[in-house]
Amino acid sequence: MKTKRALITGITGQDGAYLASFLVKEGYEVFGGCRKKVSNNRLWRLKELGIEKEIKIKLFDLLDENNINRVIRDGKYDEIYNLAAQSYVDKSFVSPLYTSNVNTLGVIRILEALRKLSKSTKFYQASSSEMYGNTGSRAQDENTTFKPISPYAISKLHAHRMQKIYREVYNLYCCSGILFNHDSPLRSNEFVSKKIVSELVRVKYRKTKYLYLGNIYAKRDWGYSMDYVEAMWKMLQQKKPDDYVISSGKSHSVKSFVTIAAKYIGFNLKWRGKGLNENAYDTKTKKTIIRIKKELFRPTEIKSTFGNSSKANRILKWSPKTNFNQLVKIMSEAELKKYE
Ligand code: NDP
Ligand code: GDP
Repeated sequence: MKTKRALITGITGQDGAYLASFLVKEGYEVFGGCRKKVSNNRLWRLKELGIEKEIKIKLFDLLDENNINRVIRDGKYDEIYNLAAQSYVDKSFVSPLYTSNVNTLGVIRILEALRKLSKSTKFYQASSSEMYGNTGSRAQDENTTFKPISPYAISKLHAHRMQKIYREVYNLYCCSGILFNHDSPLRSNEFVSKKIVSELVRVKYRKTKYLYLGNIYAKRDWGYSMDYVEAMWKMLQQKKPDDYVISSGKSHSVKSFVTIAAKYIGFNLKWRGKGLNENAYDTKTKKTIIRIKKELFRPTEIKSTFGNSSKANRILKWSPKTNFNQLVKIMSEAELKKYE
């Protein structure tokens, strides 16, 4: 059988690395889109997974239409996974124009290239649970109304709708995965899960005094990136393209994440105070180690996310293998290892 060729955009990111590793194991010839010149530092995640030599890097920038056309025309890819994005919700409030240029127009640039130059390539778009906004207490599925409340969410929703138009009007094979938060030891430090484990370990080894956080009452449906990339691949193996919610089905607060991570890292936390004065101390040393900082709150906030993946479960036969506690443990232990 012919070896399948896949292009993963955003190869230097968390999901890019795990998906690349998964596709290499599946026997694919894997190409990775990287927006800047390749350096060893940029490929650290692929190195971590021991696959940096297996991936063929292509210069690929979502802002550059000519570059996208060239890569797609010459690549003759069977599958393209568009994981590249300005992926930070808080940065999108500072740079809304840039966020839409990358996350929306960038996707339309790819879709146009596919329509004109490579109609048989299957396309995966990384959509996000952020698109739902605050929709109340019911689990969010493929039929839930989108009410985006950040520039990031709006940029992702526009791209999500566009891929559907290319599927329905131009007959391209396009799928969108509406993925809920998924993290791992390869997550960027800016996201709260990784920030929590990395700062708590730094407190343990006296590199810093405090972990500062914003809204610790926000709740997220958290899963493990390694489980979620498999769902992306499964979507592109179906007869008919479609959109799927990928989630764990359970919601936990940032405060629960911190409390469990602290336990794995060797602290016994006690919380006290309220609002901006709320803090946590370690009962062994009596030292305060977590504080709340006003600047870390967002202008608008999704209070809680909570997905329903029964469609993915039924059609893709996908369900998450790693639960919340296991994820926190994996991330805490990986961070501790760096100091051993
Ligand atoms: P990361 O932030 O780890 O990776 C983003 C990638 O996009 C990086 O490789 C980055 O490259 C690349 N990138 C940024 N701008 C451009 C550009 N102009 N052209 C080409 N590449 C660019 O994100 P994740 O791996 O966590 O997420 C993958 C995708 O899934 C993203 O689209 C994200 O928005 C979406 N998503 C993620 C969720 C999650 O919880 N992880 C939840 C729902 C959706 P560089 O290294 O150069 O910065
Ligand atoms: P997001 O859900 O994609 O925005 O992922 P994040 O990990 O960035 O944020 C998850 C939740 O944690 C959001 O509700 C944030 O408001 C909340 N949060 C609380 N403190 C922090 C912090 O210091 N950094 C980040 N990134 N998020 C924080």
